[in-house]
Amino acid sequence: MNIVIFGPPGAGKGTQSNLIAKKYNLYQLSTGELLRNEIKNSTKLGKNISSIINSGNLVSNDIVSDLIEKYISNEIYRERLIFDGYPRNLAQAQNLDNLLKKYNQKIDIVLKLSVNLETIKKRILERKTVEKRLDDLEEIAIKRYETYENNIVSVIDFYKQFNLLKVINGELSVDEISNEISALIDAIKGWLYKIRQYKYASI
Ligand code: ADP
Repeated sequence: MNIVIFGPPGAGKGTQSNLIAKKYNLYQLSTGELLRNEIKNSTKLGKNISSIINSGNLVSNDIVSDLIEKYISNEIYRERLIFDGYPRNLAQAQNLDNLLKKYNQKIDIVLKLSVNLETIKKRILERKTVEKRLDDLEEIAIKRYETYENNIVSVIDFYKQFNLLKVINGELSVDEISNEISALIDAIKGWLYKIRQYKYASI
């Protein structure tokens, strides 16, 4: 099963992806984390993108696409990926669809965590003291929120046409959100199981 999870900065995508990954033995593919690792390791790519990330802008679609293709093409992660932070715009949503098709895979569910701006500001201020991310300064976080809002409508419309989108109230507690997500995943898993049984029965 492949899952997409998105929401504004501070929505809790990372926390929830991590919990789902553990529970269902999936792999959390956080593009933000991958990019921050490039910066931490002072790679050539890291040096090129650090000012972009730290100012709250999006890295180019091509760079992120190359990074995720490495995982999609790897058998170890086949049908086991949680895309945390990808796609972030329509071009990325279309690209993800094409990449998955190229490797004979698909997305099973798209989760959108909805959170209002006041909660986001509060959470990011708290996170700033723990993770010390340079892009968690208040003005930069607001910029990231605006970038998200401007780009995400077309992503939402894209997934609505495939009936994959589930909206979750990201204002709830970590446990409540995680229970809600688990129930959605279990329902899909049960459904996939039935389809497989039906296929065998009709052979
Ligand atoms: P948040 O969702 O809180 O902004 P992330 O860790 O998901 O945190 O992303 C941090 C930053 O990494 C983004 O502001 C952006 O600069 C970069 N980034 C992450 N994912 C993508 C992506 N899919 N496309 C372009 N840039 C990305």
